[in-house]
Amino acid sequence: MSGCDHPGLLPLEDALARLLAMAETCPINEVEQVGLAEADGRVLAEALVSGLDLPPWDNSAMDGYALALADWTGEPLVVSQRILAGSAPATLQPGTCARIFTGAPVPAGADTVEMQENAEVLDDGRVRFVEPLRAHRNIRLQGHETRVGDSVLPAGTQLGPIELGLAASLGAAQLGVRRRPRVAVLSTGDELVEPGQPLGAGQIYNSNRRLLIAWLQRLGCAVVDAGILADDLELTRQTLRNLGDVDLILSTGGVSVGEADFLGEVLREEGELTLWKLALKPGKPLTVGHCQGVPVIGLPGNPGSSLVTFALLARPYLLRRLGVVEVGPLGFEVAAGFVWRKPGTRREFLRARLENNRALLHPNQSSGVLSSAAWANGLVEVREGQTLEEGDPIRFIPLSELLG
Ligand code: AMP
Ligand code: MG
Repeated sequence: MSGCDHPGLLPLEDALARLLAMAETCPINEVEQVGLAEADGRVLAEALVSGLDLPPWDNSAMDGYALALADWTGEPLVVSQRILAGSAPATLQPGTCARIFTGAPVPAGADTVEMQENAEVLDDGRVRFVEPLRAHRNIRLQGHETRVGDSVLPAGTQLGPIELGLAASLGAAQLGVRRRPRVAVLSTGDELVEPGQPLGAGQIYNSNRRLLIAWLQRLGCAVVDAGILADDLELTRQTLRNLGDVDLILSTGGVSVGEADFLGEVLREEGELTLWKLALKPGKPLTVGHCQGVPVIGLPGNPGSSLVTFALLARPYLLRRLGVVEVGPLGFEVAAGFVWRKPGTRREFLRARLENNRALLHPNQSSGVLSSAAWANGLVEVREGQTLEEGDPIRFIPLSELLG
């Protein structure tokens, strides 16, 4: 059974394709030059092109001795110079070798480096090589990593520690990155209270606000914390109107069937509203639209549903607005450490823990709980209509793939 058998429910792939198409109509194109220290988590706006050969000159991969192989007859060689990393060597005197250390430039005239483990230093200071030598060994050639003009990272790359290290190796002090998306986070619900406040009757603490703000910041967004919004039409209208300068309004709650739908009503009046019923569990209802031109995504209020819809839909949407091409998380096949006998009509993402390459399920998969997501280190994807026996292959998406 596929999602298509349920005409009322929108398959996840279709929802994602629509959201990505929407993202492409309003890319965040502005470019900022930022220092490497500020670039972690940002998205590269233009390809990083190498201004250097890397390495810039032939250098030694070992601590040892540099020589011209043609000079080696089997007799011990005089050591004519000592080359440390950071020094500029003289041309190698014919018939001699040079003491050399890892990363030091190979002197002109040398064509091989022999590691010190194969060298015996005689009492007179000359060096005898114990094993036969071969040309070109242990030399890291100029430009073997990159050449001047090579494109090293494409535009749209999400920058992390490795990319920053690479940029530094090329001497790039600044990078052109897309400006941070401004995302307003809005938690709707009369029942919500912030931590630090006493809980009144019928109240719960607002977990989605913290969850989403921390997550958005990891994604390089500038968060506008719009706090808690009471379930009230006029307040909702005013709040949304006041968020005219953000790139996205991300709200949670107020989209369950049967609830007074203030967000939807305002969007209908002030912009556009589509309510999607996703073939997704947790996370069936999703509001997508705009308020006076500002895009709005309304996630379901249950924290587990907020988590899954943000991970699978809002996150890729935001990344695509920044020009990221690969917006889907990397997943891989593991063995199910559980049975799944009841085929579902919605795609399920279950909070799971990978142990010895088997995915174990948390017993509490309720959309209202976060503790099982904190226990989990990934989500397993059970497709519509799928049943599973222990050991069956199943796709596992590490949470670490989704959180940055
Ligand atoms: P709603 O989508 O507003 O009907 O909310 C669905 C469920 O999620 C209800 O049990 C709400 O109390 C809960 N909920 C909504 N927003 C939040 C929030 N920000 N933090 C924690 N729970 C929430
Ligand atoms: Mg609500």
